[in-house]
Amino acid sequence: MGKIILTGDRPTGKLHLGHFVGSLCQRVQLQNSGEFEKIFIMIADAQALTDNADNPEKVRQNIIEVALDYLSCGIDPAKSTIFIQSMVPELTELAFYYMNLVTVARLERNPTVKSEIVMREFGKSIPVGFYTYPISQASDITAFRATTVPAGADQEPMIEQTREIVHKFNSIYGPTLVEPEILLPSNCVCQRLPGTDGKAKMSKSLGNCIYLSDSAEDLRKKVMSMYTDPNHIRVEDPGSIEGNCVFTYLDAFSTPDHFAQFLPDYASLDELKAHYKSGGLGDVKVKKFLYAVLQEMLEPIRARRKEYEQDIEGVYDILKKGCEVARAEAAETLNMVRNSMKINYFDDMDLIRKQSEMYKAAK
Ligand code: ATP
Ligand code: MG
Repeated sequence: MGKIILTGDRPTGKLHLGHFVGSLCQRVQLQNSGEFEKIFIMIADAQALTDNADNPEKVRQNIIEVALDYLSCGIDPAKSTIFIQSMVPELTELAFYYMNLVTVARLERNPTVKSEIVMREFGKSIPVGFYTYPISQASDITAFRATTVPAGADQEPMIEQTREIVHKFNSIYGPTLVEPEILLPSNCVCQRLPGTDGKAKMSKSLGNCIYLSDSAEDLRKKVMSMYTDPNHIRVEDPGSIEGNCVFTYLDAFSTPDHFAQFLPDYASLDELKAHYKSGGLGDVKVKKFLYAVLQEMLEPIRARRKEYEQDIEGVYDILKKGCEVARAEAAETLNMVRNSMKINYFDDMDLIRKQSEMYKAAK
């Protein structure tokens, strides 16, 4: 059996550097590796609605933004199927069956959902759809018989939940579903990139993002006002690297070549860190370097985005075709699921014959 990828993003905003290092750039590499039989990339609008039910316009407007970000980063529609979740209603039906295989207590234990509930200040008013989105995610993954899910560390509990559902389904109804594996970025800092405010995760919902589509000027402003070490006041003060997100970003994005190109006084990031820690290196110098590194990476992405922005109809066309391909694939799995669960009453001649004979015999 060939390897299949399913991954995606919620259209709650444009994509940011966290998405890029956590999942997007890995997707492009995997796509171009030729190792995967099929690749599905989902714009998770139905999932976005679970905590944006009162703002469907936000979700609607951001579908194109996410699609533009994908294409400008190098997702190639000839190699990867980009589709919109709600356009594949088979996913909803699968989720409805999977709900019977998961307990409320199990949902309560999901650490990512727990922290998102706190972050969104839901209190006791958690929308049921939001609470159960890990189940819906299990149907997204299994519908495409995905073996591999490239994602950030926040997705680990979702993949674990999916594996449990697959296991339970297969043990009750017979081998049907495929158990997926998460593929985390190998660089640890990329698994959960912090926000520019130093908060644990860069997230659209927290407003602490550098977006892939930010202008060079916005990028400069955001980098120059990034959170560093609050005790590093004068240049000569010793500074701390831990929790200093300028250095975390350098861990994620800088290479030795960048030093040769933009900061030849230092041979490596280790040297720069050592100088910062011992004192005598100002934040501004480090931030200017980070800006140069990010600017070099983002400039071609921005330029490609500008081109796609001039062909919005073409982008919708890509999405529409992707939805058709995805729907056919999910329908096949749903068929298998229905057969395994014996929810195939009209196709089951044996059932009809036996019941008919039983009632005739009892007459
Ligand atoms: P929202 O705040 O609406 O949940 P988000 O910024 O968390 O948005 P998602 O669409 O939920 O983004 O996440 C999409 C993918 O990007 C997931 O695979 C997730 O792991 C990854 N991702 C998101 N933020 C980060 C981050 N800061 N670091 C690493 N990966 C991330
Ligand atoms: Mg999220």
